Amino acid sequence: MTARCLEPTSANIAMAVERLLQGELVGMPTETVYGLAADSRNEEAVRQVFITKGRPIDNPLIVHVAQPEQARELSPDWNATCDRLAERFWPGPLTLVLRHGGRVNDYVTSGHPTVALRSPAHDTALELIRAAGRPLVAPSANRSGQLSPTTAAHVLDEFPAEAFPVLDGGPCSHGIESTVLALSDDVPVVLRPGAVTLAELREELPRVEVPVIGEQVAAPGTSLRHYAPNTPAILVRTDELDEQLAETEVPAVVLSLGFREASLPHQVIEMPERAADYARGLYAALRRADLLGGAVIMIEMPPLTDGLWRAVNDRLRRACVERA
Ligand code: AMP
Ligand code: MG
Repeated sequence: MTARCLEPTSANIAMAVERLLQGELVGMPTETVYGLAADSRNEEAVRQVFITKGRPIDNPLIVHVAQPEQARELSPDWNATCDRLAERFWPGPLTLVLRHGGRVNDYVTSGHPTVALRSPAHDTALELIRAAGRPLVAPSANRSGQLSPTTAAHVLDEFPAEAFPVLDGGPCSHGIESTVLALSDDVPVVLRPGAVTLAELREELPRVEVPVIGEQVAAPGTSLRHYAPNTPAILVRTDELDEQLAETEVPAVVLSLGFREASLPHQVIEMPERAADYARGLYAALRRADLLGGAVIMIEMPPLTDGLWRAVNDRLRRACVERA
């Protein structure tokens, strides 16, 4: 373990909290992906998050709370529905977007009238927020537009030259980002599919709407290309994969579902068949695919689109959008 990568002991958490309260950044494990945490009430610290990530200033940050009471303070619209959703899904991978009524710094929200709130299901993250005594912003700890980190080592790979410490909470249990649910309009809308599925949300909110997969949502920070490897990636249907591989003259790395052999120069990364396992391993697999040095990543299209596959397919589509 390097000097920057720390076991989440009480002493290291106390040190991390001290840094946060001084306006510095900390790499924080969550159940979705690793976050780059900062004090949500400290404008300078929040600005530093944007600078460190190279994140466009118009892409608002999610505010992480330890419990629903802390979220309630940040929105005049927190109501019984929010209580119910928090009761069922928090701590967990559901982000609620609500009007903030001026209670949150403009840098956090990118000047929008809404704030995104969630409580992460990770002991270390919850301890940090509790001990800091204030909500923390924590966008994924990667350079803007790159793959989200799902281990502490990924965070160090993304930021080898920065000084901030990373608390090592092990590999993320979900491995993809939270479901973002907007409650700020008449009809609840899923702005980003994630680990909490549409079916689960509809058990609580039957009217919740979701845009068609691949369709652009009119929400901040939902640009089509995102969560993308450096190598160009394409989605290929199972029945077209063999032909595509045979025709491809450059070395390809295949993210394959189910066993498949490929002759050199092509290489195969076997992906798990269960959606939860696929999601958990996706970003690490794309990082590996980048390192294998192929000229193209061919991603075998998952045959299913419901449940957690919706979120997986969303990330795969974005990973395959060409660089602008
Ligand atoms: P991440 O990039 O994982 O930190 O997630 C941030 C995403 O949450 C943004 O890209 C938006 O899609 C959504 N989000 C955050 N804050 C807001 C907000 N104030 N209003 C609407 N969506 C938001
Ligand atoms: Mg991100």
